[in-house]
Amino acid sequence: MNTEPHLEIIIGTMFSGKSTELIRRVNRYEVAGKKVQLFKPILDDRYSRDHVASHDGLKRTVTYVYDLDDLKRKYEPSIGVLGVDEPQFLESGIVDFTEEHVRRGGIAVVSPLLKDFLDNYFVFKDGKLDTSEFVRRADHVTYLKALCTYQVENSQDNVCGDEATRVQRFIDGKVAPPDSPLVLVGGKEAYAPRCRKHYQFYR
Ligand SMILES: [Zn+2]
Repeated sequence: MNTEPHLEIIIGTMFSGKSTELIRRVNRYEVAGKKVQLFKPILDDRYSRDHVASHDGLKRTVTYVYDLDDLKRKYEPSIGVLGVDEPQFLESGIVDFTEEHVRRGGIAVVSPLLKDFLDNYFVFKDGKLDTSEFVRRADHVTYLKALCTYQVENSQDNVCGDEATRVQRFIDGKVAPPDSPLVLVGGKEAYAPRCRKHYQFYR
């Protein structure tokens, strides 16, 4: 375990286990005596207080934030480890903020969703920069992949099972068009992990 000041990122697609890996890592720093805060953006009003998040049996208290200003208000400068799950839903200033934490002698562990459903880098909430900025500035990068769930007939369990580096978005059962809204009202949408071979471009 690296206890020197550094920025480590866990990138990957949806369903790749990023949150679970993030919780595992910050819990480990805590066992090693570091004070930890783990933040996660909320996209609606349903949860505004601290919650215990559970992933695959791992548990951890998470501080939910509405935006970067909210995170800065709740942040305790004395902590050793700053964890941020899904930072792509915050403003781009989160990149500088995590790096400032490192410059002050801390450890930052973040798990951004690397790419959106069109296979482009995920742009931050304020429309500036994208998640590749974390890759550029990180000291350690872990790239997690999901498994492709494309249905194939000749496979034993009927799914492809190859490493999925992409995610396909479906609206009402069809591949989502590039100009479909990020938040859908009324439409039924779904996401599924896909390998290079089975990722479909819209046509
Ligand atoms: Zn596949």
